[in-house]
Amino acid sequence: MPASTISCLRSRCVRGYATSAFPLNPIARAKAEQLSADWKGTSLVGGTTKNYIGGKFVESKADNWLEIHDPSTQTVLSRVPETTGAEFEQAVDAASEAFKTWSRTSIITRQRFTIELQHLLRKYTPALADSIVLEQGKTVADARGDVLRGLQVVETAVGITSNLLGDYVEVSKDMDTYTRRVPLGVCASIAPFNFPAMIPLWSIPMAIATGNTLILKPSERDPGAAMIIAELCERAGLPPGVLNVVHGTVPTVNAICDHPAIKAISFVGGDRAGKHIYDRGTQNGKRVQANMGAKNHAVVMPDANKNLVLNSIIGAAFGAAGQRCMAISVAILVGKAQMWLPELVERASKLNVNGGFEQGADVGPLISPAAKSRVKKLIASAEQEGGRIHLDGRDVRVEGYPHGNFVGPTIVEAATTMTCYREEIFGPVLVVIQAESLDDALDIINANKYGNGTAIFTQSGATARKFENEVNVGQIGINIPIPVPLPFFSWSGNKASFLGDVAFNGKTGLQFYTQNKTITTLWKAEDAIGNRANVDMPTHH
Ligand code: NAD
Repeated sequence: MPASTISCLRSRCVRGYATSAFPLNPIARAKAEQLSADWKGTSLVGGTTKNYIGGKFVESKADNWLEIHDPSTQTVLSRVPETTGAEFEQAVDAASEAFKTWSRTSIITRQRFTIELQHLLRKYTPALADSIVLEQGKTVADARGDVLRGLQVVETAVGITSNLLGDYVEVSKDMDTYTRRVPLGVCASIAPFNFPAMIPLWSIPMAIATGNTLILKPSERDPGAAMIIAELCERAGLPPGVLNVVHGTVPTVNAICDHPAIKAISFVGGDRAGKHIYDRGTQNGKRVQANMGAKNHAVVMPDANKNLVLNSIIGAAFGAAGQRCMAISVAILVGKAQMWLPELVERASKLNVNGGFEQGADVGPLISPAAKSRVKKLIASAEQEGGRIHLDGRDVRVEGYPHGNFVGPTIVEAATTMTCYREEIFGPVLVVIQAESLDDALDIINANKYGNGTAIFTQSGATARKFENEVNVGQIGINIPIPVPLPFFSWSGNKASFLGDVAFNGKTGLQFYTQNKTITTLWKAEDAIGNRANVDMPTHH
């Protein structure tokens, strides 16, 4: 981008305010400067986010640029391009070319990449976390958790040498049948804003370790962590073109859905985009896995450990400002557990709402002013529809951050007919529903359209077992509020939380990125002619 355009954009008014009116505080500013100096693909001091194509971080020639704001102050940190059609073609060409050699590298070369990457991700976790705090708004501790949960996928991918073993059996005399799991080709991954490191890492290690090449489109709202990860992949020895990063919104997504060279799409995000990508991608003959929205219920039985319940629900409802697809957004208080509501409210009211870099911050800002106003509207709808607001975070004031997208912890007692229950809020809002029995709670959860996660708190094994057996939700916690399985298990959100046939991670993750070849051979013993052994140590390089 020409310097004149950048300076013109820099002085531009954002939402009616001159951007320079809300500078970063000194800690955030120092982090932004350090990241911009250390990493090739991301600038957080008002510069641009680069495309990563064929092993090079390149400035886009786009006409359309989107601003990335610090959600605590509205300061413009960077600008991200709507990658042009020509640049997108270059990325696909680079990935197609790289596939020819990467798909034929030995499995231990690919494993070695994952080993190096996990080491580098661990080493540079602080840098990744700083980028996430700046662009996404998470607290530092939560941002490190975002990286760690992605790192665990890389650690799982290190096991590729065992996990990619095929089947083999002698089917007849001198006749063998075996399967070989081969990569698909160029794959694509489209990510949401809420886990800028973890979700790109749901795709990168597994797609690449299985021999595919990848086009990643991170969220246009916080692509910085993905750019750092791309550079770490390069440092881990990944050849040019195996991973490419493009940017933008619907046009780039549609280009991914339509390009004939792209064989599979991994999507994580909201319902509207997920359905669109699933429909368009599958109509074009691609494999698509789409993880989408959620409404996760925690059932609190009266025999539960009260302290565990209150702390777990508060952490799971308000951590990451409620912007987790596995956040507990509904608490069903069964029978006498209803008496714990005042204490739940009191503990939640003590959470520290603050900028992500501030000491002791528990709840950071929402991603955008639009997200804040949407969340506030949904809280207001509860009031209008007869719900009761026990804790109201709409007017929270955060010292030093007058323009941040903050909403404080909010607890609303509501009915299942109300809008605040029916819609995914994706903010620090806990909807509380009263129920008389476990069966009533099960009916409520099973009638909900989503099936990402749920939890029960009880001291009774029998109650927990009945719940686990009868609830129609894919990921279930028993005395655990956010039952996100480690990545050697498959993600198993169901109902409207998933579209596709083959889920992320675990055995299915491997299946998604590979196809089988089944080979039958006949090598008759009497045809054997070899009479000289090779005694060198086999190295398989
Ligand atoms: P989003 O759907 O707005 O964006 C996700 C991606 O899709 C982005 O890369 C974006 O550029 C693209 N996109 C957005 N709108 C599009 C459209 N109309 N057509 C084509 N592409 C489009 O989601 P978000 O706001 O970034 O993320 C929050 C959502 O993601 C929540 O609904 C949350 O529940 C969901 N999520 C789900 C999981 C899961 O595993 N189920 C995990 C994380 C987040």
